[in-house]
Amino acid sequence: MNLKDKIRVIENFPQEGISFKDITTLLKDGESFRYTIDKFVEELDGKEFDLIVGPESRGFIIGTPLSYATKKGFVPVRKPGKLPGETVKYEYDLEYGSDSLEIHKDAIQKGQKVVIADDLLATGGTLLSTIKLIEELGGEVVGVLCLIELCHLNGRKHLSDYDVKSLIQY
Ligand code: 5GP
Repeated sequence: MNLKDKIRVIENFPQEGISFKDITTLLKDGESFRYTIDKFVEELDGKEFDLIVGPESRGFIIGTPLSYATKKGFVPVRKPGKLPGETVKYEYDLEYGSDSLEIHKDAIQKGQKVVIADDLLATGGTLLSTIKLIEELGGEVVGVLCLIELCHLNGRKHLSDYDVKSLIQY
């Protein structure tokens, strides 16, 4: 199955010059969505891990069915102020200004092995921040799965210490 055919590319969204990869066209196609999750499950075959972590919000869409399929727990990483319990925060720079992500302090135990799932790797800022949060809690990132990788942005260079897999490349 060619998953790339299921992605809709929308030019100049959310701003001029951005070529947005819209995954909703893949998600609404039941067979393609199921195939995507099955592919990720294959990637994880033989890997030992305890938890799946997904960053808000499309990481939830990829991460939770993967959690169901692998029978591992799911931990959300969220935008600031969304998680009700005690959190740790990681702030990262954007082109203009900064952004931050949070995780519950008790979401991961020291030494737990974690797989991260998200929809798209662009500059790598989101995944790197997610990694920092997991490592701050003492978790070990044993794999990073994303549906789409924008290769020209070379987000991988920030993630060279990790096992990063993508299913679709642009
Ligand atoms: P990064 O932090 O790697 O620069 O950007 C990745 C994050 O931005 C992902 O969590 C993803 O949801 C979002 N993102 C950036 N560009 C796109 C895009 O073209 N399509 C989709 N679906 N998400 C994007």
